[in-house]
Amino acid sequence: MGSRPATSGRVVASTNGTAKSDRPRLNASKKNGGAKRRTGPAGTPAIEPAVKLVAVHKSYGRNPVLKGVNFAVAPGELVEVTGPSGSGKTTLLRLVHGQLRPSAGELWVRGRSLHRRWRRGLGDLRRDVAFVFQEQRLLPRLTALENLVLALQVRDPQVPNAAIKQRALAALQSVNLASRRGAYPHELSAGERQRVAVARALVTRPRVLLADEPLASMDEENAAIVMRLLEEAAAAGTTVIVATHRHTFPASRILRLPSARVMTNGAKRAHANGNGHANGNGSTNGNGNGNGHTNGVLVKRAWWRVMIPVRERLHRVPQPKQIPLWRRAAAFSANSFRLVVLSGLRSWSRDARQTTPVMGTIALLLILCGTLVLIGVAVQHAVADQAGQASLVRVYLADSATQDSINALEARLRADSRVASVTYVSADQALAEARKRPGLDNLSSLSSANPFPASLDVRVKVVTQVEAVATSVKNDTAVDPTYATSYDPDTYSRLRRFALIAGGIAGGIVLLFAAVAYAVIANAMRGIAGARRPEVAITRLLGARGWMVRGPFVIEGLTTGALAGAVAAAAVAGAYLLATRFESTVYVQVLPGVDATAVQYVLAAVMTAGLVLGAATAMLGFRRARA
Ligand code: ADP
Ligand code: MG
Repeated sequence: MGSRPATSGRVVASTNGTAKSDRPRLNASKKNGGAKRRTGPAGTPAIEPAVKLVAVHKSYGRNPVLKGVNFAVAPGELVEVTGPSGSGKTTLLRLVHGQLRPSAGELWVRGRSLHRRWRRGLGDLRRDVAFVFQEQRLLPRLTALENLVLALQVRDPQVPNAAIKQRALAALQSVNLASRRGAYPHELSAGERQRVAVARALVTRPRVLLADEPLASMDEENAAIVMRLLEEAAAAGTTVIVATHRHTFPASRILRLPSARVMTNGAKRAHANGNGHANGNGSTNGNGNGNGHTNGVLVKRAWWRVMIPVRERLHRVPQPKQIPLWRRAAAFSANSFRLVVLSGLRSWSRDARQTTPVMGTIALLLILCGTLVLIGVAVQHAVADQAGQASLVRVYLADSATQDSINALEARLRADSRVASVTYVSADQALAEARKRPGLDNLSSLSSANPFPASLDVRVKVVTQVEAVATSVKNDTAVDPTYATSYDPDTYSRLRRFALIAGGIAGGIVLLFAAVAYAVIANAMRGIAGARRPEVAITRLLGARGWMVRGPFVIEGLTTGALAGAVAAAAVAGAYLLATRFESTVYVQVLPGVDATAVQYVLAAVMTAGLVLGAATAMLGFRRARA
C-alpha cells in the first residue's frame, strides 16, 4: 500500500470564493464540484460549519496581519493553515480560540459569534475548543500526568477521579509517554513536552482542536504518531485545524497565508483506514513540498504498531453521561475540593516563603489592634469609674441644722430632675468610711471628737451638671455656710481629655502600621501574583470556570489569614495572662474592667479579622495575577 503512487496528490487552488459561497451556511449545492469539498467526513452535505471566518481582518496596532480571510471548516474536517513564519497562522488560531478579537469581519465557532460579545462565555467555548500551543504552555508545577488530569477536571468535573486518571494515563500512553508521567515539564525534552501538550488537548475529546506547529521539535516517529492521533480525532468527529509552516498533514483543504487562498486537496480523505491514510500521505508528498519526515512507510509502521491498542484503550473509558447522577455529584464535590482546597493548600505551602511576610504582618497588625482594644476597654472602665466619682456632690450639713431643714433639703434635692440619688451620711458613718481608707486608719487614735460633719451625698445624673447642683444648695439653711460642698469639677474632664489624646495616638499608630502593613502585603502579593500569572493564564486557556481559578487564591489567603489570626490571638491571650499574673503579684489593677469574657470577644475578633484580611489580600493578589 505504501507504494501507491501519488496520483491523487493534487492540491487545487481555489479562489477565495470557496469560502465566500459558504456564507452564511454550508448548504452545499450538489450541482458543482463544490459539493465535494463542502461535505463532511462521512460525505454528509449541508452541515453547519464548526468554524467560520467571514472577511476576518486582524491587525496589531497598525500592523495588519490577516486581511480579509474567508474560511469555513466543517465538523470533523482536518484542515491545515500554512505559510511562512510571521504570516499570521498563530494569530488565526488564537482568534478561533477567543484569545484575540478580530479587528473586522465575522468569526463563528460552533455557532457562537466571537466578533460580537467576545469575552462572554469564553470558558464555555474553550471547554469545547482545545489548543496545542507552540510553546506548549504546560503548568510548570504539575507533572505530565497532573497536567492532563487538570485539563480533564476543568473540562468534566463530574467524572470520578479514577476515570480521569485512567483517561489521562491512556492519553499519555498514546503519545508514548506513560513512563514519563511523573516528570515535571522542565524535566522533559522539548519534543516530549510537545507530545504532552498534544495529549492534553486530545484527552478532553474537544469538538474543535487547534494545533499550532504540533510537530515542532519532534522526531519522525513521534511526528507520525501525533499526525495519526490528529487524524483519528478528526475521524471521531473533532474539527482539527493545524498550523504548519509547510504543508504536512493529509488535510482536506489548506488555507495559505498570507494570501488567504484556500487550496483543496484533490484526494478525498478517508478515515480510520490504512487506505485513506496512504492517500492522504501520498498527497503530502505529491504536493512537492519535499516534506521528508512523512514518508508512508514510517507513518504506517507507527499506525499499526502503536495506534490500534491505544484507540481501544481510549474508547473503553466511560463517558460522563454513562455515570449515574449521584456518582457525578459526588465526583463533582471531590473534584471541586481538589481544584480549590487542595490546590490552594498546595500553592500556599509552595509559596510559603512569600506568604510568611504577609502572615507576619497581618499577625503584628492584629496583635497591635487586639492589645489596644484591651487597653481601650481598661481606660474606658477607668474613665467611667472616675465619672461615677466625679458626679458625686457631698453637701456638708451645718452642725446647727435641724432635722426638719435637713428633710426639706433632701426632699428638694430628690425633686431635682438632675439628681440621681440622695444618701444621708451621718458623722459616725463618715468617720467609719474614712478609717477604711489607707493612711487614714489611725484616725481612731485622734481625740474622741469626730472631725467629720454629717452630709448628704448627692449623685448627679450628668457629670457636667455637678457644679450647678452644688451651687443651688449653697445658701440653704441646713448647709454648712463655711464649707458647703465638695466635688471635683476637673478630674473627669482631665481624664477624658487624656483618654481622647491617648486614643488618638493609638489610632494614629494603628493607621500608620496599617499603611506599612498594606505596603508589605501588596509587595509580597505582587511577587506571588507574578509567579502565578502563567498558571492562571493557562488554567483559563483550558476553559476553567471562574471559581476554579479564584478558589485556590481564596483558600491560600484564608489559610494565611487563619494562621496570622491564631498567632495574634495566642499573643494577645498570653499578654492578658501575663498582665493578670502581674496584677496578683503587685496588687495593682493593670487592666481594670477587662475580664475573661472581654478577652474572649477580642480573641474571636482577632481571628475573624485575620480570615477577612487573608481573604482580602488573596483577592488583591488574584486581581494582579489576572491582569
Ligand atoms: P506565524 O504564527 O504565522 O509565524 P504570527 O501569527 O505569530 O505568525 O504573527 C503574525 C505577525 O503578527 C508577525 O509579524 C508578528 O510579529 C505579529 N504579532 C504576533 N503577535 C503579536 C502581538 N501580540 N503584538 C504585536 N504583533 C504581533
Ligand atoms: Mg506561529
